[in-house]
Amino acid sequence: MDISTICVHGCDIKYDTTGAVSVPIFASSTFAHPGVGQSTGFDYSRSQNPTKEYLEHCITKLESGAETIAFSSGMAALSALMELFSPGDHIIASYDLYGGTFRLFSRISEKNGMKISYTAGAQEIAEKITPSTKAVIIESPTNPMMNVIDIQAAAQITQNKKLLLIVDNTFLTPVFQRPLSLGADIVWHSGTKYLGGHNDTLAGTLTVKDSGLSERLRFIAKTTGGGLSPFDSFLIIRGIKTLAVRMERHNITALTVANWLKTQGKVKKVYYIGLKDHPDYEISCRQASGFGGMISFSVYDERSVKIILENVKIIKYAESLGGTESLITYPLLQTHADLPQDEREARGINNCLLRLSVGLESADDIINDLKQAMEGC
Ligand SMILES: *Cc1c(COP(=O)(O)O)cnc(C)c1O
Repeated sequence: MDISTICVHGCDIKYDTTGAVSVPIFASSTFAHPGVGQSTGFDYSRSQNPTKEYLEHCITKLESGAETIAFSSGMAALSALMELFSPGDHIIASYDLYGGTFRLFSRISEKNGMKISYTAGAQEIAEKITPSTKAVIIESPTNPMMNVIDIQAAAQITQNKKLLLIVDNTFLTPVFQRPLSLGADIVWHSGTKYLGGHNDTLAGTLTVKDSGLSERLRFIAKTTGGGLSPFDSFLIIRGIKTLAVRMERHNITALTVANWLKTQGKVKKVYYIGLKDHPDYEISCRQASGFGGMISFSVYDERSVKIILENVKIIKYAESLGGTESLITYPLLQTHADLPQDEREARGINNCLLRLSVGLESADDIINDLKQAMEGC
């Protein structure tokens, strides 16, 4: 079945007898037992709720996984995931990462006794492995520098060494990239972004290839209590119905905007994985069927950054990405503010870099908005 059909129809579970086409919101924290020692399959919503279960099945289908667990945010999903590891465990993570992920690693995981090393690409993973390495966590494309990591090459290394490969698939979504099919063990999402798609809900998910792993993660999820609420599960289910259509449009518009930015004298460099001169263009074409809606670009000075951020009208100067509205962010002050300056500079996140989440407005309107905002640069 084509992915766009799965998006629209979700999963096959029917929870009521009315024929409702849209899954009901089961606003119940607890479920009555039919008899002593008996269960309807639902006992208490921290463990499971029918609306959340429906969403989980839907994402499992989209990612071709064994099981999915939905959390109250992407970071809640990552926090639960990190409970798989113990003090002394070593984890290798991609160098360029969502700032919140880096913050969780450096301020919480390390306090809890885990060691984190960073790697730029698949080739470097092998060099960083130690006897205590347990997992490799990567983002591809990376945030905000849009580097692409060869997921299959990474999987070859992790499979040989029996390490878990965990991929943050937030930017491309299963519509364009399915990491489990490329050899990853766990796919992680900030559902807040493209899956929800409307800048109105926080959510996170973990999808696993192997059901043994999902049993451990489900135990952690019900014990630590970061599960997604029934209302928010419904909003993500509704968002996913249009995911394939939205991703196609984000992709086309972003390509148009990136090509336009490249022709602008006030723009120093454009980072978009769909540009043929992107250094990882070939890897992208091999492992993904689209390039998504995320563009970073740099201008020549900090003054120009301020001018653009304060003059965009249709595009909103705000954190987050993947929604209907175009958003522009200043990684230095927003998503990556917690990175030490030297670490930030080493990644290329400097005071001239902007990140644009291309929304569903027309390409012309987005370009005209950027054009007028850049006038004073
Ligand atoms: C936003 C984001 C996260 C964190 O997710 P939240 O839903 O904000 O907790 C993780 N990874 C990436 C790539 C993100 O963009």
